Amino acid sequence: MPRLVMKFGGTSVATVDRIRNVARHVAREVRAGYEVAVVVSAMSGKTNELVAWCKDASALYAQSEYDAVVASGEQVTSGLLAIVLNEMGLKARSWQGWQIPIETSDQHGSARIQNIDGARLDAGFQRGEVAVIAGFQGIHAETGRLTTLGRGGSDTSAVAIAAAIGAERCDIYTDVDGVYTTDPRVVPKARRLERVAFEEMLEMASLGAKVLQVRSVELAMVHRVPTTVRSSFDDPDDARPGTLICDEDDIVEQQIITGIAFSKDEAQITLRRVKDKPGIAAAIFGPLADANINVDMIIQVVSGDGAATDMTFTVPAADYERARAILEAQSGTVECERIEGATDVVKVSAIGIGMRSHAGVAAKAFRALAEKGINIRAITTSEIKFSVLIDAAYTELAVRTLHALYGLDKA
Ligand code: ADP
Ligand code: ASP
Ligand code: MG
Repeated sequence: MPRLVMKFGGTSVATVDRIRNVARHVAREVRAGYEVAVVVSAMSGKTNELVAWCKDASALYAQSEYDAVVASGEQVTSGLLAIVLNEMGLKARSWQGWQIPIETSDQHGSARIQNIDGARLDAGFQRGEVAVIAGFQGIHAETGRLTTLGRGGSDTSAVAIAAAIGAERCDIYTDVDGVYTTDPRVVPKARRLERVAFEEMLEMASLGAKVLQVRSVELAMVHRVPTTVRSSFDDPDDARPGTLICDEDDIVEQQIITGIAFSKDEAQITLRRVKDKPGIAAAIFGPLADANINVDMIIQVVSGDGAATDMTFTVPAADYERARAILEAQSGTVECERIEGATDVVKVSAIGIGMRSHAGVAAKAFRALAEKGINIRAITTSEIKFSVLIDAAYTELAVRTLHALYGLDKA
């Protein structure tokens, strides 16, 4: 029988009533003849509450215990969905990550899936059971400890399971009916996309579109798992297909720009009047890399007097204080007048495979933003995207401006 993975996010399982609604979606696919594995998130808000409890318990909690706590949200919803399915007369059982097992690395809090043994799930399908799997969690084989996959990680659980059991498709059910040209909560004129290429979805997710966890898109792309994003709020007996994430070749009408993403998770650091000499970039970025801090946009101004230059770059907002402390500790090797920083910044990006074959796409944006009086602090470009760093206060204006500029607004 063909197999299907269905994943339901936090809002879709927020109450027992909504879990009943999820069960009706599952029943539809069982009736259609699929062997179904369902992956569930915790009830919406639950994971945040669990994270807050850990912080409340101690400022210096062990990451392994954090995982033990936060993995519990998914344990609850997987059990509840199995109960509800049973009540509807369907055979089903819950599976925790360790019971399958879903083996991961030991990077607690952001572990990576290394192996999924599908044998026990196969046996369950043989018995005619729906597998209800707790998303977000796994086990580190050597230590036997629970792990979690990072926020939004149930998407990754779902795609990884789809690859492991040879599912025909992985359907990600959420509170929107597909992937939009930008976050529909910010731009009401955003349009739903029929199809998005894996590469574009990967960029959109990495650049801030939280609809899918980045790692899930990577896995879907590597294992060529046809993945959809669709709404759990559709009538279970008349559900629309949503957005298909697929190969670029399967998209007939390719736009130049497919979507606009934004991320507030950025901070800017500027070193003023750094002594301009060979090795200066290595002296600045080496220690940051050693501390696992991801540097993104980098701008080095050519020094006018040949002696000193300004160096600007961005780091994840969560690493801002740490990055500054590391740089200040380097004052022996990094000689500069002062270190400045800003956290009220946002990175706005435009993504589209069509950029590969069109020149001047980004230049158009710089002009349009200037006309709105938006100052650009930093720019990066690559083959299928460009990003600008601007003041956070202009987020909506910039996103809407670019959205209209590239013809993405709904008619
Ligand atoms: P879930 O709890 O189901 O995993 P998420 O909150 O993680 O749901 O993801 C869905 C949300 O992603 C939507 O409510 C929407 O606000 C946001 N989002 C951001 N960018 C986009 C986009 N380009 N298309 C669709 N949704 C987006
Ligand atoms: N419950 C986890 C979170 O909120 C995982 C997920 O929902 O995907 O991050
Ligand atoms: Mg999510």
